[in-house]
Amino acid sequence: MSEPSIFTRILQGEIPAEIVAETENAFAIRDIAPQAPVHLLVIPKTAQYRNVVELAAGDPELLTEVIGLANSVAAEHADGDFRLIFNTGEGAGQTVFHVHAHVLAGGLNEKSLG
Ligand code: ADP
Repeated sequence: MSEPSIFTRILQGEIPAEIVAETENAFAIRDIAPQAPVHLLVIPKTAQYRNVVELAAGDPELLTEVIGLANSVAAEHADGDFRLIFNTGEGAGQTVFHVHAHVLAGGLNEKSLG
């Protein structure tokens, strides 16, 4: 077995983090290094899927649950509009290989994707 991911350790209470919302199979936390006025992470509770491509292939209903939770935390913590980013692979900046959605929101009116 590989080491538990940082997100599994947060879910198990081994690393402190504020869980801002939860569904049966997913949870949301504040990103420790925010890249936008509102920056949350929505994470499946299972660490089985390394990235969104694996998640979509293996459990599309869980991907739908993640997207629904992203929508509700964006409504709760910002005005409801949000960017949903899944970094996929080291070359795209992924550092934690337990699939997670970045929810960026709050005053993102400029056209750039960054
Ligand atoms: P990147 O680090 O390039 O954003 P990922 O897409 O894998 O790569 O995202 C991992 C995210 O997890 C980062 O935005 C990072 O700030 C966040 N993070 C790491 N540790 C914690 C933690 N203890 N609590 C909250 N967020 C964390």
